Amino acid sequence: MAKVKKEVKILMIEDDLTLCDLVGSFLEKKGYVFYQHNTFEGAIDRVKQVRPDLIIMDLHFPDGNGLHLCKTLKDDKDYNKIPILVLTGRDYPVEKEVAMKSGVTDFFHKPMVYSKLTEKIDEILGESIKLTFWGVRGSVPCPGAKYAEFGGNSTCLQVKIPGQKKMLIIDAGTGLRVLGDEVDKSVENCEGRIFLTHAHWDHIQGFPFFKPLYKEGNKFQVHMPQQISGSTKEVLVDQMSYTYSPITSHMFKADLEYLTQTRGLQRYDGYSVEHITANHPVETAIYKFEIGKRSFVFAPDNELSTKDESSSKGKSYAYLKQFDSFVSGVDVLIHDSQFDYEEYQHKQRWGHSAWEIVVERSIKNGVKHLILTHFGPDLVDDDLFRIEEEAQEMARGTDTHVELAREGKVFRFPA
Ligand SMILES: [Zn+2]
Ligand SMILES: [Zn+2]
Repeated sequence: MAKVKKEVKILMIEDDLTLCDLVGSFLEKKGYVFYQHNTFEGAIDRVKQVRPDLIIMDLHFPDGNGLHLCKTLKDDKDYNKIPILVLTGRDYPVEKEVAMKSGVTDFFHKPMVYSKLTEKIDEILGESIKLTFWGVRGSVPCPGAKYAEFGGNSTCLQVKIPGQKKMLIIDAGTGLRVLGDEVDKSVENCEGRIFLTHAHWDHIQGFPFFKPLYKEGNKFQVHMPQQISGSTKEVLVDQMSYTYSPITSHMFKADLEYLTQTRGLQRYDGYSVEHITANHPVETAIYKFEIGKRSFVFAPDNELSTKDESSSKGKSYAYLKQFDSFVSGVDVLIHDSQFDYEEYQHKQRWGHSAWEIVVERSIKNGVKHLILTHFGPDLVDDDLFRIEEEAQEMARGTDTHVELAREGKVFRFPA
């Protein structure tokens, strides 16, 4: 466990007194300052009195529903930054979804394994790498009620590295606009790098709408592998020519550098990055980032086909071997799940994957955490809830944990 650097206060709201005492004595031994409260009633007052760094709680109390507590805290700007970890014996995705919307940060599943509990606390409070999805759609943005839960913006991922102020952004789909608005509100000046996998619209359309580009003093480097025609600058600036957009790139005020991402390991601000070429119609990067001992791979557009597997000569076979060795043992794989297997049957060689094949291959490669993303427009919320359940069922009993990306969701993993 990472060292607890300052006094960290944990408040446990739980009606099972024995459990509270056990957790309390364990956490106190680990150096945390532990408080408990055992009823629904008075819990909010207790939070205000203790002002904990973390709340651990149950959702079911004899005198009330824990979700109401979460909601009350979420709506209070003085307390909505306190992370809430829910202890639960149940594993229902829909219930989880409702709880996350009510302000729950994460879940810890019973039975209690105490070493895992401190790992989870470290993950929430400690030095964790944060992956925030600002867009999870492939092909085209999908507004509307059917997409409200998982989100309709196209691909954009932000990576936050502990102690690193410079931004790290991957892909500039329409999700980048939302990230830009957030940054514009919260910091005076910013700098960072934007890595683009390729120049298909769903990966660059948010670029002209990224507010920090219009502010003097900001500084960005934009990386992309060489495309069929045009440099990184030409590709991005051409989509803003006057025919297409009233706002042209001449209006950018930030200091911008456009770079062609070359092969091999490159080291930047607290991380290193390398890439291979995806199985996709144009030159598309699959990036692997290494941050200290941790690594993650971002492959939003990549077709993993099962074809040619039996033949040791086929092109697809050679590609799969290269992919396998690139992702083998990574902490997190974020991968294209544009289709389900049925839709994929009609769309083979389009350059996208069926989620079933991705899950299967990730299990085979020992990927610890698989995050499915880049959902096609045909996959609405109801489909994605079902896919998440089925994918988790497929991975049950293996070393691979599967989740679906959601717009606005932050995935943390220890640095
Ligand atoms: Zn795409
Ligand atoms: Zn593409």
